[in-house]
Amino acid sequence: MISVNVTKGYDLAISGKPSSKLKILKKPDRVAFLPERIPFIIPRLLVKVDDPVKIGSVLFEDKQNTDLKFLSPGSGRVSEINFGPRRVIREIVIELEKQEQYADFRKMTDLEIRTLEKESLIKILMQGGVWPLIRELPFRGIADPKIQPESIWVALGNQEPFQPFPEVYLKGREALFSFGLKILKRFGVPVNVSAPDHLRLQGYDIMITHRVRGHYPAHDPGVILYKTKKSAAENIGWYITGQDLLAIASLMKNGHYPIERIAVMAGSRAQNSGHYQTRVGVPVADMIPGLSSDESCFAGGLLTGYEVNSTSFMGLYETALTCIPKGDQRELFGFLRPGFGKPSFSRTFLSRFRKKPFDMDSGMHGEQRACVNCGSCTKICPVDILPQYTIKCLGADAIEEALAHGLLDCVECGLCSYVCPSKIEIRETLQKARYEYHKEQR
Ligand code: SF4
Ligand code: SF4
Repeated sequence: MISVNVTKGYDLAISGKPSSKLKILKKPDRVAFLPERIPFIIPRLLVKVDDPVKIGSVLFEDKQNTDLKFLSPGSGRVSEINFGPRRVIREIVIELEKQEQYADFRKMTDLEIRTLEKESLIKILMQGGVWPLIRELPFRGIADPKIQPESIWVALGNQEPFQPFPEVYLKGREALFSFGLKILKRFGVPVNVSAPDHLRLQGYDIMITHRVRGHYPAHDPGVILYKTKKSAAENIGWYITGQDLLAIASLMKNGHYPIERIAVMAGSRAQNSGHYQTRVGVPVADMIPGLSSDESCFAGGLLTGYEVNSTSFMGLYETALTCIPKGDQRELFGFLRPGFGKPSFSRTFLSRFRKKPFDMDSGMHGEQRACVNCGSCTKICPVDILPQYTIKCLGADAIEEALAHGLLDCVECGLCSYVCPSKIEIRETLQKARYEYHKEQR
C-alpha cells in the first residue's frame, strides 16, 4: 500500500453536509440524457421524437467514433429533444412507461472475464453504453480506446462539497467491486485503487493500493498521478469513480444497462438532504422540489459543477445536487463590517477565528478586477502550477509557455478561482485552453 500526502489544497468550511442515511427516491415520470454535458464528443442523433425506447436502446453516437454509443436511461417514449445555441443537443427527454423494459446485453462470468481479450472488452463496454464512464487524463474526456494508458485509477474519494460518501455507495457491494476490478485488469496495465486515509470498509482494504491524505482535491486521480508519477509518459492515465466501476460490473454481471445511481442532496438550503438511491437523468425537481428564486442549485459540485434550475435533469456524471442561498444582494457598507460570517481564504475578515462551517452563498461579492499578484492561487494549487502567470501566457497566446507552466497538470479543481480576490475565472480560462489544445492535438 502506498501513502500519498498532498500538502496543498483547501477544504471549504461550508454548512449543509448530508447525512449518510440512504433513502429511496420515488420513480420519476421522465428522465433525460444530456449530450451537451459530455466533453469532446460530436453527437449524431439516432432517435426522433415519439420513438419508443427501452432502457439501453441507443439514443445517439459520437460522429468521431461511431462505436461509441450513448444509451437510454429509461424505457418509454422520446418526448422531447431540446437544442441549445448552434443546434447543440442539450437534452433527450424520455417519458417513462409503467412497466419499463430492458435491452439485453451479454452476461459474463468470472471465468469468462479471465480469458476476455482487450479488443472484445472494449467492444462490449462501448455497445453496453458504459465506456463513457472511463475517462482519461490529462484532458478528462472519454478514454480513447486506441491509446494504451500507463495505468488505470479507481477513485474512491472526492472531498468537493458535497459528493456521495464511498461508505454509502460501496456498502455490501464488495463482490461487485472486485468483479469490476477484474474487468479493468483485462486492459493489461496496473489498476490502482485510491481511497481516503481514514476510509475503513470491511472487505475493501485488500483492494486499496493507495491511501491519500490531504485537503481537497487530494483525492482527484490527476493529483495522485501528479504526486506519484516518475516520468512524463505516465501523464496519460485512465480513471473512473468507484460508483461508475460498480455500474460497469453490473452491466457485465446482469446484462442490463446500469441506470441506478446513489446521489446526494446537500447544502444549507436543501430540504431533505441526504443520500438517495435514484437513477441516471432524474429531474432536478424530483430531488429538490420547490426551488425558490433566492436559492442556487448546482449539479456535480460547488467548485466544478454547473448551475441548474427546476426544469433541469441530472447528467450522466453528476451524482450531487447542492442548494445554497443566492447571495447576489448588495451589502450596504459591506467593507466596514467585520465579516464574522464571510468565508475568506485570505483571512481578511474576523471569520478566520470562526470554528463552525459557513452558510456560504453563490454570490461573487464583487466584480472581476486586474490581478493584484497576491499569490493565493499559487499557494493553493495542488499541482504546483503558477495560475496567475499561466493565464497571462494564455492571454498573450503563448501556449508553449503555458504548457511549460504545467497547463496539462491542471485538474480543474476550481480552487484558484475560489480564492482569487480579483474574481478572475482562472479555472474556466485554463479549462478552455486545455480543451482547445486537446482538440488541436486530435
Ligand atoms: S490551476 Fe486552479 S483549477 Fe488547476 S489545479 Fe491549480 S488550483 Fe486547481
Ligand atoms: S489569486 Fe488572483 S489576484 Fe491573486 S495572484 Fe492569483 S490571479 Fe492574481
